[in-house]
Amino acid sequence: MISIKSDREIELLRIAGKIVGDTHKYIKPYIKPGITTMELDQLAETYIRKCGATPSFKGLYGFPNACCISVNEEVVHGIPSNRKLKEGDIVSIDIGACYKGYHGDSAWSYPVGKVSQENEELLKHTEEALFEGLSAIHDGARVGDIGYMVSKCANKYHLGVVKELVGHGVGSEVHEMPDVPNYGKPNTGPLLKKGMVIAVEPMLNLGTADIYELDDEWTIVTADLKPSAHFEHTVLVTEDGYEILTKR
Ligand code: MG
Ligand code: MG
Repeated sequence: MISIKSDREIELLRIAGKIVGDTHKYIKPYIKPGITTMELDQLAETYIRKCGATPSFKGLYGFPNACCISVNEEVVHGIPSNRKLKEGDIVSIDIGACYKGYHGDSAWSYPVGKVSQENEELLKHTEEALFEGLSAIHDGARVGDIGYMVSKCANKYHLGVVKELVGHGVGSEVHEMPDVPNYGKPNTGPLLKKGMVIAVEPMLNLGTADIYELDDEWTIVTADLKPSAHFEHTVLVTEDGYEILTKR
């Protein structure tokens, strides 16, 4: 069952989403060589709390921190640590905030200082794949339309599409129905209706699509240890398109 949000719920989801977008904007200038992922996590958590919200991921399924911060070959679910970011790294920061019981969820991958051309293109093309996926959304479209557009874009650039992890509905839970895979066939899957709220989140790899989980039981890395990028927005399905709730 995919929930259609009431006007009141949509208002709260807009506020939660704005807090997530603002948190990304707030931490972006700090993403420089020498900062640790734990410092970034703490900056984000303090900011989220200052906005009157709580970090959605802290304690979710037992996750220890406010943000998932994943560097280079780490795809998602990286645990903040004393690891210092280095010039040339790419870092994916996944932020969730809960405001009055409703969540926003957005991940973004950032360059650390000057990065290689292939990393720069990976970031650019994964962001493009996110917007290609979003472009399929409107009242009456189907979830498969989104994944089809994401993977079509990824294939164009010969990027690996992570299949084990998917986007999702968002509401009073961070992860609600439906699953929103980054692959699919047009006109298949659950029907999207005006008032639904979903997170679309391509995870694209420079090499193989294959991934595995590290011994910390959280961090997902690429099987060939080549870099991975992750771009995510939470959006409201509207009559003729979508409204980004987590915009910067
Ligand atoms: Mg996320
Ligand atoms: Mg998500």
